[in-house]
Amino acid sequence: MDKRFYITTPIYYVNSLPHLGHAYTTIVADALARFYRLQGYEVFFLTGTDEHGDKIAKAAEAQGKTPKEFVDEVANIFKETWDKLGINYSYFIRTTSDKHKRVVQHVLQTLFDKGEFYLDEYEGNYCYGCERFLTPKELDEKGLCKDHKAPPVYLKEKNYFFNLEKYRGWLKDYLTKNEVIYPSFYREEVLNLLEEPLPPLCISRPKTRLSWGTELPFDKDYVTYVWFDALLNYLTGIGYPDDPSWQDYWANSHHLIAKDILRPHAIYFPIMLKTLEIPMYKKLFVHGYWLMGSLKMSKSLGNIVSPLELSQTFGVDQVRYYLLRDMAFGYDAEFSLSNLINRINADLANDYGNLVNRTLSFLERNFDGTIPPWGELTPEDREFREKVERGIIRYLEEFPRLNFHTALEELWQAIRFANVYIDREAPWTRVKEGNYQRVGTVLRNIISAIKSFALALYPVLPNSSLTLFSALSVLPSSLSDITRTDLVIPSSPYVIPSEAMNLSFKDLFNWDLPASGTKIKRCGPLFPRVDEEKFLKEEQRVEAKKEAEVKEEPQYITIEEFRRIDLRVAKVLFAEKVAGADRLLRLEVSCPEKRQVVAGIAEYYEPQELIGKEIIIVANLKPAKIKGLVSEGMLLAAKDANGLAIIIPEREKEPGAKVG
Ligand SMILES: [Zn+2]
Repeated sequence: MDKRFYITTPIYYVNSLPHLGHAYTTIVADALARFYRLQGYEVFFLTGTDEHGDKIAKAAEAQGKTPKEFVDEVANIFKETWDKLGINYSYFIRTTSDKHKRVVQHVLQTLFDKGEFYLDEYEGNYCYGCERFLTPKELDEKGLCKDHKAPPVYLKEKNYFFNLEKYRGWLKDYLTKNEVIYPSFYREEVLNLLEEPLPPLCISRPKTRLSWGTELPFDKDYVTYVWFDALLNYLTGIGYPDDPSWQDYWANSHHLIAKDILRPHAIYFPIMLKTLEIPMYKKLFVHGYWLMGSLKMSKSLGNIVSPLELSQTFGVDQVRYYLLRDMAFGYDAEFSLSNLINRINADLANDYGNLVNRTLSFLERNFDGTIPPWGELTPEDREFREKVERGIIRYLEEFPRLNFHTALEELWQAIRFANVYIDREAPWTRVKEGNYQRVGTVLRNIISAIKSFALALYPVLPNSSLTLFSALSVLPSSLSDITRTDLVIPSSPYVIPSEAMNLSFKDLFNWDLPASGTKIKRCGPLFPRVDEEKFLKEEQRVEAKKEAEVKEEPQYITIEEFRRIDLRVAKVLFAEKVAGADRLLRLEVSCPEKRQVVAGIAEYYEPQELIGKEIIIVANLKPAKIKGLVSEGMLLAAKDANGLAIIIPEREKEPGAKVG
């Protein structure tokens, strides 16, 4: 088989639950996978979870779980989320699986034998958020990690290093000559990074500090660095090195990522491939962030919209459509509930849903639900066909370039024109005049167009397209062998008929499909309108009810729930007033890693009286942004009419000591 398409998402780090950013990447991958299947490609779509590393071990401990229990739980949540969003992946990879660990150890040993690694003592600024040493350029003017807004920790330890600098010239040359990274401004960004010498990549972590990882096969005192482990999933997933078919997929490998993980994918990974003598991947597709207010939707900063909640409220297809329609691939986009509702009402309900609904119900009322034969085509009918075909051609051109927003807009011009065509031809008036032949031809034309819209949109709107295929008795052939598709169908009211015909994108321009004489079924409104005002009011009512319930009954928590709260002793290293906020102090604490805590205690404490004091903090509180500063914990204090007092341990304890 020469037509293959291999698409991957990043494997998601299980220190957070699935959020909108994860959902976006995965929906893009799913849409591309479906698009290429309909083009007759053999598609392999890989997703999964990244389960090793510092942060995972810490998160498990904070919840009183073993790392294994913790990662099993979160990996299942990811799988369930993708099932509910209709994600039709081929394989779900986990970095803690034996299959993957064997590949990682094989690669480590191969590169070690080739002399690519060396042991060295290293000291430097380590960011626990990034799980790596930072270069001076990666710190802001206050000495904080630019991504995490947190102070790094100074560490000194012996580790194995990978000399990336040796391959910088090769990589620069390769990326200059080949358009591997898309959109191209990300390629420019990488080429800029390659102007400066590359620091060696630390590929190990001493087990004394971290044991939750894959052991180095050549040194039992170390586990491998989480990124080195993670990137290799793209090889494991297609059967490297044992299954010979992996190379066929590899030659067509496309990796989708968000821009925060550009460096590992565009620098570390290509160099790893080069040293393994594996050809470069075909494409790296890089997207921007969904912004919520001014915060990015990424794993470290919280502020998360749950994709499941969104899809349960508005519908899977509706959320998929909005995400693909409102982000220009590569750039950041602002997430907005009212834009989402507006897309549902204007594009889906008014334009597309209404076209389908009025056509099918008219057919049922006036033609007993049977597709009429063709009459003679008028210039208007031909103009309609031409516009529909042009919209579809533009859609097919833009979609594989990942310009989903343009592709959908082009198709929507055709859908809107179909509504104009109906209004102009006014079949309801002509039926009264008894002109069934003319009306039949117009309807016939529109139904074929609806079939083509549903087929073209199947990658974006799988549920509603399946419903329409069922109503029109047509079914794409590439769907028949996808077993996981049955996860999508339940929300559609129809069962795919066994006599269904086989379709592929070739049928987009077949105006004789579905055939005259085919009996069609009505399918109710595909996209119910959302009343924005009512919806927002309802939300407020539910919130108010939740609050009232909380107030009514005494709230007991279990010992397990209490143990989930990570209370620790923290030593105040530095304190200062926050400019422009009278009540706030910014503290730098050690617990024992360095953190920033923003606390509303400025009315009661001077910054200097806190420095050197030990306090108690809630260490696993979701980080929050206060006055532009990220607060990574909450300090405990008691307050009454006489003011506020912070809680301090009665005797000095080591920073980081557990409180319970
Ligand atoms: Zn960081």
